[in-house]
Amino acid sequence: MNRVNPRSLRVRLTFWYSCALILVALVLGGASRWALAVSLDHALDQSLRYRLIGLRGFIDENSGDGLDRLKFKLRELDHLGELFQVFGPHGELMAQSDGLARHRVSTDPPPDPGARMLFRSAGPHWFPMRMATQRIYVGDEALTIEVADPQRKYEGVLREFYSVLYVALPIVLLIAALGGYWLSGRALGPVDQIIDEARAIDPANLTARLSVPASGDELQRLSETLNQMLDHVEQSVQQMRRFTADASHELRAPMTLIYTAAQFALRRERSPEELKESLQKILREAKRCTDLINQLLTLARSDAGNSKLELVPNDISALVRDMVAEMSLMAANKDITVGSGLPDVPVFADVDEASFCRMLLILLDNAIKYTAPGGRVSIRVTHNAGQVIIAVADTGVGIPVDQLTFVFDRFWRADKVRSRDAGGTGLGLAIAREIAESHHAELTVESSVGHGSTFTVRMPSTKQSPLLETSSERAI
Ligand code: ADP
Repeated sequence: MNRVNPRSLRVRLTFWYSCALILVALVLGGASRWALAVSLDHALDQSLRYRLIGLRGFIDENSGDGLDRLKFKLRELDHLGELFQVFGPHGELMAQSDGLARHRVSTDPPPDPGARMLFRSAGPHWFPMRMATQRIYVGDEALTIEVADPQRKYEGVLREFYSVLYVALPIVLLIAALGGYWLSGRALGPVDQIIDEARAIDPANLTARLSVPASGDELQRLSETLNQMLDHVEQSVQQMRRFTADASHELRAPMTLIYTAAQFALRRERSPEELKESLQKILREAKRCTDLINQLLTLARSDAGNSKLELVPNDISALVRDMVAEMSLMAANKDITVGSGLPDVPVFADVDEASFCRMLLILLDNAIKYTAPGGRVSIRVTHNAGQVIIAVADTGVGIPVDQLTFVFDRFWRADKVRSRDAGGTGLGLAIAREIAESHHAELTVESSVGHGSTFTVRMPSTKQSPLLETSSERAI
């Protein structure tokens, strides 16, 4: 049998349920006891009322022959076990039943009841009495009559009530607690099933999913949420595996070239030209490795959230102008013209200068890389409705429309050979998009094969401060 875990939800639910039940039982028991005591007191007073009426009737019937004769007659009543006492016009005790005398009930005149019936508690503390008092008239004489009943007359009923409560309540509570334990066990059963199924999922094979009960309750939602989480985990793990495989693959090619170039150079005596050529090959491939590792590092840092950017207002036109100047020589070497369309006034946006320039560099470098000699690359900056828009367009090879969705994926290249020959790794645009996102910017692409591509960055502009305005104007 399974051991009961005291910290389990089931035990805790049963515990709190039982506590609530005990509290309700105590409140209900107390309230019932109070209601019963009140109604018993009421019943006692009611019976006294009827007896007082009876005593009054008896006196009316037997007072015709004077008070002395009445005293004698009242003894008869005493024989019937009635508890009563009668006081004369001057408050003197005319008659007291034996029962009252035995319990030493005071023979002092009772308080004046006025025209009403007066109910009060009296008698010795070891035998408290409930008394009803009334004034009556016999001829011109005012008599005070009293009937009594032991206050504890109905104590037996209360005792019985208590004994039922004391015996029945724990039994009912025990049954209810066991029932609660059983019910919570049934209600939480599916949770155990979810736990078992989740435990059975092998980290090496994340395709398994939890069964979803069609109960429409929280457990269905829990299973669905866990399944969604598993979808994300599976996607991330697959992405990570693909990324690791791609990275290893990309690194293997230059490493193999370095290895064979070195092997070639060392196999036998080589002329200085041959050695130089081998070393140049090694240098080229080593640079490719270093570039790739740097790009991988950038992405890894950004994935880990470690790439700290200092976003400060910068004049985007000025940054673009600097980048165009930097890239113009490289474009000219390839016989490509670079043109720019910049606004006359500074356009400000919050950017981290180094990262932002890196993004521009990637876009301009690609535009030049994938455009044939004689082509044209242009960069245009516009400012519209609180947005700065930077568009890098070329007249290059373009990208097939059906492949545009993969352009920003890591290691994706439309043409592996062309990209590799141009020194590409397939990580440039992935990095550019990460940079754009960390600037709250959107990077999109439009392209047409044979006609060229346009990469557009849309980012929120910043209101320039007078201080910055002056400094940027000076920079221009
Ligand atoms: P790479 O290092 O290969 O250039 P990128 O991530 O920068 O990697 O680009 C991914 C791929 O997208 C490139 O291999 C190329 O096929 C395509 N591409 C990127 N920019 C352009 C462009 N301006 N014109 C045509 N194709 C492009």
